Amino acid sequence: VQEECADNGYLHYSHRMRREILEQAALKSALASAVQNQELEIFYQPKVCLNTGTISGVEALLRWRKADGSFISPAEFIPVAERSDLILEIGAWVLKSACRQLKKWHDEGHGHLSVAINLSGKQFHDEQLPAMIGDILRETALPPQSLNLEITENILIDNVENAIRIMEQISAMGVHLSIDDFGRGYSSLTYLKRFPINVLKVDQSFVRDLPHGHKDVAIAMSIISLGSRLNLKVVAEGVETPEQLAFMQQHKCTEMQGFLFSKAIDAEELGAMLRSGKHLSCAYRP
Ligand code: C2E
Ligand code: MG
Ligand code: MG
Ligand code: MG
Repeated sequence: VQEECADNGYLHYSHRMRREILEQAALKSALASAVQNQELEIFYQPKVCLNTGTISGVEALLRWRKADGSFISPAEFIPVAERSDLILEIGAWVLKSACRQLKKWHDEGHGHLSVAINLSGKQFHDEQLPAMIGDILRETALPPQSLNLEITENILIDNVENAIRIMEQISAMGVHLSIDDFGRGYSSLTYLKRFPINVLKVDQSFVRDLPHGHKDVAIAMSIISLGSRLNLKVVAEGVETPEQLAFMQQHKCTEMQGFLFSKAIDAEELGAMLRSGKHLSCAYRP
């Protein structure tokens, strides 16, 4: 009986795997034609300075809009793109488009605004990345520090020496680097010591249960204080409630991002938000 069960389990498992492989293949070819047909769009989520209450920058977040108007989440299609070279094409497009959009906002009088762009592992380790960044900075004439590249810890563990070399090249151009989802991956204090980093983003899993989760309180406070002692900006991700905002203000986190202020919106809406002067009314003032 046990053997039968095991066999059955195996059968189910292999059917499921087969189905998943087919689904992934279908998703990959759909994504390739989405790139061709320009169905990808960049949304922007504002980042708010907790000292002034104003929008200091935006994070570029990819959206795949299907013909029926629904969206496929980047959490679903980025991993698929990462398994092929499609991610390089998509990544280069995001970098160029988001910088050109930022340039427009600068020209409209929002010269203080920065843009943060997420890099995938393949893109980060691609030999051509620094040259590509140089090209786009020359083309747009943006101040390099208004460009911020977000990488996750997991990208860094693969090849630490190479990662340091690439980060130093990027940093030498004046472009800023953020560690995204800090604390979620294989966090190592060695990264903070050796890598030229400007920003820590507190992973939203530590923000979600604030201010009640006592472990989250300890972790969030420690990350903020670690960042501040290292002279890094600290951005709280996923701030959804006034209590979470108050926590971040109280503990002198430098910036916040989250649905409480705004979700990611398209470039036009973001432009309107900038013109309206939207800001946090209850910003912490020293
Ligand atoms: P991420 O870089 O950590 O981005 C933050 C995610 O949290 C975004 O999800 C954002 O919409 C979501 N978020 C922001 N505020 C809140 C909040 O208050 N509550 C909750 N529950 N969620 C919030 P999104 O847009 O679905 O992106 C998911 C991930 O996909 C990103 O995580 C990033 O890793 C990746 N991604 C997005 N765009 C790109 C891209 O252009 N290139 C690459 N390589 N990855 C990208
Ligand atoms: Mg990010
Ligand atoms: Mg993040
Ligand atoms: Mg995240």
